[in-house]
Amino acid sequence: MAMEPRIVPRKEHRISRKQVSPNALRTLYRLHSRGFIAYLVGGCVRDLLLGRTPKDFDIGTNATPGQIKKLFHNCRLVGRRFRLAHLRFQDEIVEVSTFRRSADPSDVIEPDEANQGRRHVRHMKDANGMVLADNIFGTPEEDALRRDFTINALAYNIADASIVDYCTGLIDLKERLIRSIGDPRVRFTEDPVRMLRAVRFAASHGFDIEASAWDSIRELCSTISRASPSRLYEEIQKLFLLGFGCPTFALLEKSGLLAALFPDLAGWGREREGRFEVLEKNLAGIDELVRGGQGASVALLFAALFGPRLEEGALIHHREGIPRRQALDEVCAGFLKEISQSAQIPGRVGARLNSILALKTSLCRMPPRRPATLAGRPEFAETFTYLELAAGLKGEHRPVLEWWKAYLLENPAAGAVEPPAEEAARKKRRRRRKKPRRRRSAVVREEGTTHGQ
Ligand code: ATP
Ligand code: MG
Repeated sequence: MAMEPRIVPRKEHRISRKQVSPNALRTLYRLHSRGFIAYLVGGCVRDLLLGRTPKDFDIGTNATPGQIKKLFHNCRLVGRRFRLAHLRFQDEIVEVSTFRRSADPSDVIEPDEANQGRRHVRHMKDANGMVLADNIFGTPEEDALRRDFTINALAYNIADASIVDYCTGLIDLKERLIRSIGDPRVRFTEDPVRMLRAVRFAASHGFDIEASAWDSIRELCSTISRASPSRLYEEIQKLFLLGFGCPTFALLEKSGLLAALFPDLAGWGREREGRFEVLEKNLAGIDELVRGGQGASVALLFAALFGPRLEEGALIHHREGIPRRQALDEVCAGFLKEISQSAQIPGRVGARLNSILALKTSLCRMPPRRPATLAGRPEFAETFTYLELAAGLKGEHRPVLEWWKAYLLENPAAGAVEPPAEEAARKKRRRRRKKPRRRRSAVVREEGTTHGQ
């Protein structure tokens, strides 16, 4: 796989320093001035080349975590599996990681009782070839080659403002192709979440997935359940809450990943024509909210994605003689139990989903009983939005929406609900994090979004 990197000098590419966050830029300069290699790496280089605003700026360097810590007073080392540095600025965290390489066979230690608990295990794969720990320093080239896709392996070298391409990232970017680095079967086996990432990038960037990678996804999609439930929960949010949920859903369905992730939902959708369209329209509504800056809670997303199926299940149950609310609660509980086998959904999100669906039933009863109480419920805003999504589609809830809009106009204080619990909890956490608690945040980091890097 090793080859001479393609180096594109400053004059021949479109990334300007002005597009890079000042904090990241200062960090790069400081590392460079102390004699270290300092690159922008990963998704931010891809996004800058595409003319998009990167979500975050990641830096790769040959400085070790200890050296980085000495250079930056605002540095915290995080991650157990891989130590990396978080530089905390007022409104931004810049991630600085030491170049890593993937393991060669001599590094691989089969996990067993004895070494599971060993603190300095550097690299481990399980019996299926899935990487469990990844902690070996490497060269910039090795660091690029361990990444998932060629377009995610580009680097920007602060020393001369050139772009460094160790794979075929620049060509693939031009051709709009998601191509695995190395054999896609091996790479998806090492980390099945990469299949979801391929679909996410393809849907959000309008790229194609290169043929052998696509075939491998079709073949290996069922192995997605090997990924850790906490990571899958993180990834599900990225799939559906970044403004491209609708096209992502379609591609998940086509690839077989939807059935692997949510077998019940996929089976239900395939059973009758038009069902997936309902979900896609709901997701398009969520995409609009996200792109419009309004955002959507995870519970609202789940209502949009699973609500129609759960409501139908509850109705069938109810017709069998179970009281309406009990039927809904049972169906929700069954769903949450099933899904918890693959994705670790926090209890409060599951409870909120259940409340939204229950409140929807109360809101739809015309005229509603005790509207002031209903409008005062914490899940009122999300439920109202869920109703709007459904009404936009079939028009069936229009009269209900009209009724509630008129009511809120007459009683403006009634709908002034507090933000969803998750949002409030997140804000609280953010405030608290000013005084970080070391151990806990290391664990969060470990299980969090950047696990696979
Ligand atoms: P986004 O715009 O969603 O942040 P990203 O490409 O920056 O996209 P991150 O999750 O922030 O995605 O990861 C940063 C980089 O780390 C990626 O560009 C990629 O090079 C590498 N990476 C992330 N996850 C994996 C993985 N599972 N396997 C290999 N490399 C990964
Ligand atoms: Mg990123």
